[in-house]
Amino acid sequence: MIKAELKSSVTLGDFDSWFGVCPNCEHALPPLEITGARYFEEGVVECVDCHATIDLWDCVRSQINDEFPPEWALQGLGAHMTFFSFDVVPGQIVTVDLTQHNIPHDAVLLYSSYQSDDVRAIPRFIELFSKQDTQNPTRQTLYCMPVQNASTEAGPGRAMVCWIERGSDAQSSIRLANAFREIAAHDLEGAVVELFSAFEIALFTFLSRYLNKACPSKVLRRMLEGRLSAYSMMQLLPDVCEELNVRSLDNGILWALHDLRVCRNTLLHEGKAEGLTASVLGKYLAAALIAVAFIRYVEQRAV
Ligand SMILES: [Zn+2]
Repeated sequence: MIKAELKSSVTLGDFDSWFGVCPNCEHALPPLEITGARYFEEGVVECVDCHATIDLWDCVRSQINDEFPPEWALQGLGAHMTFFSFDVVPGQIVTVDLTQHNIPHDAVLLYSSYQSDDVRAIPRFIELFSKQDTQNPTRQTLYCMPVQNASTEAGPGRAMVCWIERGSDAQSSIRLANAFREIAAHDLEGAVVELFSAFEIALFTFLSRYLNKACPSKVLRRMLEGRLSAYSMMQLLPDVCEELNVRSLDNGILWALHDLRVCRNTLLHEGKAEGLTASVLGKYLAAALIAVAFIRYVEQRAV
């Protein structure tokens, strides 16, 4: 078992990504792909360690605060964390190939940290500006700055890389990946736009497929589709769930999505959103991730 370096109280299991933390025993919960189905069915999940029945939305929100830089929250919201060791060579440039550590060649890197186990050198990440290097983020180049009077022999170092998979072909997952990247780059407003687009696209795609299936009249379908604003689609979602006999999303999540919609609209119309903090954005990210997974879950049952 390893403990997250950034929040030492959290215990990680065998997963390299997790979604939320149990409030009773502080064990990380498995990724949403694993907990989602039960959560959407029963409104609760079970802790993998203390077996308490807990509300996933609460477990996720408890991880989000303004204490840390926003990208640090990403590891509790499904971003992958890969830990590995590497050789620190004082005074030398070291290249690390991330694909050797099970990070996919097309991963989106969110942040990384490199440390020497002792103080013989300080590994510094070097930004390379050649086109080939910027397009190949899986190779990271470090300069191991020597420390005066310390050994110049190679020594052990530890690395931590936080990354996500590049979105699949579905527009909604590409937008979610973009939002993670924007947060890691500290662009909170950019992330809001991507997050709401991810949710809106997933919802619109689902509702139009559902309409195609449920409404035989082409004329009515065309008329209804033309009227589907983000707001009206969100209003329809609980009714569609009732019709399909699927438990609706928690009201707290729906409210967070409405707040996200208002924030996105304010940004588009006024150019800035007051009061958008890292924790508010973290809540929006958690809500959008759950909502997109929920729409996929409902879609599998309905269309
Ligand atoms: Zn627990």
